[in-house]
Amino acid sequence: MNRVDLHVHSTASDGSYSPEALVELAKEQGLSAIAITDHDTVSGFAAAEAKGKDMGIEVVPGIEISTKYGGPIHILGYYIDINSEKLKPVLDWVIHDRDERNRKIAEKMAADGLPVSYDRMRERFGEVIGRPHFARILVELGLARNTRDAFDRFVEKGQKYYLPRNFLSIERSVEIIREAGGIPVLAHPFQYKLDDSGLREIIEHCKDYGLMGMECRYSGYSQEQSDYLEALAEEYSLIKTGGSDFHGISKPDIRLGDGKGGLNVPYEFLENLKAAVR
Ligand code: AMP
Ligand code: FE
Ligand code: FE
Ligand code: ZN
Repeated sequence: MNRVDLHVHSTASDGSYSPEALVELAKEQGLSAIAITDHDTVSGFAAAEAKGKDMGIEVVPGIEISTKYGGPIHILGYYIDINSEKLKPVLDWVIHDRDERNRKIAEKMAADGLPVSYDRMRERFGEVIGRPHFARILVELGLARNTRDAFDRFVEKGQKYYLPRNFLSIERSVEIIREAGGIPVLAHPFQYKLDDSGLREIIEHCKDYGLMGMECRYSGYSQEQSDYLEALAEEYSLIKTGGSDFHGISKPDIRLGDGKGGLNVPYEFLENLKAAVR
């Protein structure tokens, strides 16, 4: 059976595999397609697509936008026009905001005597830098055992190197994906600690702005959880999607395609997405 993974991060955001290396890994795992869904950027897609053509792996353009609605909510977008003139200024704003926050975090670290320079981080990690990159540096400096430890003790909210950043609104996130010709999808619905009525409220609210799908299969979700989400998706006429949220080293318990074990996203899920592209 043809399997796919529709939620994958590359080095263009906070993943540790380059776009090309992800395609090679997809081939090794026997996947027929992957979607590149980096946080707040589409800059990894072109290289993955080119590599995919060489290796016979289908690569879907995607993005994951971080928003807030009460707590943090993530919206995935598939088949967006990566050259969209509407999308670009929105993503530029997000990156500018990240830069402002990140520069302050790096300065705090430097003021404590750590050899951290934000300009060097920009050179090394590219334009979408987040707390996972600061966590990686803290691990490399021997100040934390691993990413989780670095988050817990340094960059999680309330810790010494945490600073907030601004978010695109949930409404605008859904709309901009539609304006860029893409399909907006609610990511990993169980990550938000919502009960059934809270989840329904978000779905209904996002549908008013153009939400078209929901991620029903995800790393660590049980069969019962996925069945519940798939029934909810059908009830709200949402396209079902699924993916691992593979990041490489910063989420070492997640494997491409297979998630935390047993993740199974059939090619049919991708066909349904494609059928919805205008
Ligand atoms: P930022 O956007 O810079 O605030 O960083 C948020 C990102 O950090 C999210 O996209 C998550 O992938 C990642 N993240 C949040 N908490 C953790 C954690 N405990 N361990 C590893 N990654 C995390
Ligand atoms: Fe991430
Ligand atoms: Fe996410
Ligand atoms: Zn993700």
